Amino acid sequence: MDIKDFIVLEDLYGAHNYHPLDVVITKGKGIWVWDVEGKKYLDFLSAYSAVNHGHCHPRIIQALKRQADKLTLTSRAFRNDQWPILAKELCELTGYEKVLPMNSGAEAVETAIKAARKWAYQKKGVPQDKAEIIACSNNFHGRTVTVISFSTEPSYRKDFGPFTPGFVIVPYGDEAALEAAINPNTAAFLVEPFQAEAGITIPPEGYLKAAKEICEKNNVLFIADEIQTGLGRAGKLFACEYEGVKPDILVIGKSLSGGCYAISAVLSPQEILGLFRPGEHGSTFSANPLACAVVREALKVLKEEKMVENSAEQGKYFLEKLKTLKSRHIKEVRGKGLLIGIELKPEAGGARRFCENLKEEGLLCKETHEHVIRFAPPLVIKQKELNWAFKKIAQVFRQAE
Ligand SMILES: *Cc1c(COP(=O)(O)O)cnc(C)c1O
Repeated sequence: MDIKDFIVLEDLYGAHNYHPLDVVITKGKGIWVWDVEGKKYLDFLSAYSAVNHGHCHPRIIQALKRQADKLTLTSRAFRNDQWPILAKELCELTGYEKVLPMNSGAEAVETAIKAARKWAYQKKGVPQDKAEIIACSNNFHGRTVTVISFSTEPSYRKDFGPFTPGFVIVPYGDEAALEAAINPNTAAFLVEPFQAEAGITIPPEGYLKAAKEICEKNNVLFIADEIQTGLGRAGKLFACEYEGVKPDILVIGKSLSGGCYAISAVLSPQEILGLFRPGEHGSTFSANPLACAVVREALKVLKEEKMVENSAEQGKYFLEKLKTLKSRHIKEVRGKGLLIGIELKPEAGGARRFCENLKEEGLLCKETHEHVIRFAPPLVIKQKELNWAFKKIAQVFRQAE
C-alpha cells in the first residue's frame, strides 16, 4: 500500500471528524517520525502536546512492556499494585491531597465539573441543581456534550444540542467580567492558563492571579485546565506558576503518559475530591495498572531529563528567533515555553497552506483555527534541531512572499 491507499481507506471507512495533513506516519523516535515511504519529518506538534517526551521514549516503552506482561486491567472492582503508588507520586509532585484518574482530557474536565458541583451543594450550600460554573470565551476543554455546552465555537456546537445548563461565559482575560458574573450560586471558574486551541492566547499579565483572588474572596473554586499547558509544555511544570497561582482543582492529561497511554487526572485538596462516595463516579479503564506504570515512568523521565527546564530554555531561544522572521504575512509571534504560535494576517490566506508547505520541507505542524500556526515540538528538542526547523520555516515564509 502506498500513501494514497491509506488516505483512501481512511476517508472511505473512517468518520471525517478530523482534517489531517496527508502524511501517513508509521514510526516515531524522539522528535522524529517517518512516513510509510521512509521520509523523515520533525514532529513540531507532539500530538497536541501529548508526546512531550518524544516518540516511543525507550524508558517509557520498557515500563509499558514490563507491565503489559504482568497485568493490564483489573477495573476498580479490585485494587492493583500500581495505582496507589502513582496516586502518591502525583500528589507529591503537584502538592495536592487527592487525585481522581480518568482516561481522556474531556472526561477529566467533566470530573472537575462534577466535583465542583458536589462541593457547591455540600460545602457552599448552593440549592440543588442551581450551581453555576463560569467558563471563558474561546475556551477549549474537550468534545463531550456537557463540555461543548460552554464552548463559544459555533462549529463545535451546531447540530449537537440540546446542551447542559449551568454554565456562564465571560471574556477571557477580563477579571472584572469574572467578578461581575459571580453570584451566590457560582460554584467554580474554569480556565485555561493559556488558551492553546484558541490560537496560543496569553492573557494579560496578572489575570490569573487576579482571577484567583476574586474566586477566593467569593468562595468560588478556581479550576485550571492544564491538560495542554501543564507538565512542562509552557516552560513551567504548570502554567499557573507564572503568576504564583495554585488552583483549587487542577486538570491534567495529554502528556501525563508521555503519549504512550490515554490517561488524565483531576487533583484537589481533600475537601473537594474527598466528597465522592463509591458509585458516584468512575470509569472501567481508570487507574488501570498499565496506564499507571507508564505514567510513573513518564514522570520520572520528565524530572530526570529536565524537560521542564529544557522547555523554558529552548522555548525562549526559539521565540526570540522566530521574532526575527521578516514576512508581510506575520501579525504576531507569541508563546510560553515550547508552546508557540505565529499568527498570520487575514490576507495571508490561512495557516493551513503554510503547514502544508512546511510538511513538504519535513516539518510537521498544524494550524489552530484559521490564522495561527502552532509550534509545539517534544520537550526534548535541542537548539541544533530548532535551528534546522527555523531554516525550514524561514524558507517557507520566503517562498510565500
Ligand atoms: C486536548 C485538551 C482537552 C481535551 O482532551 P482530550 O483528551 O482530547 O479529551 C481539554 N482541554 C484542553 C486545554 C486540551 O488541550
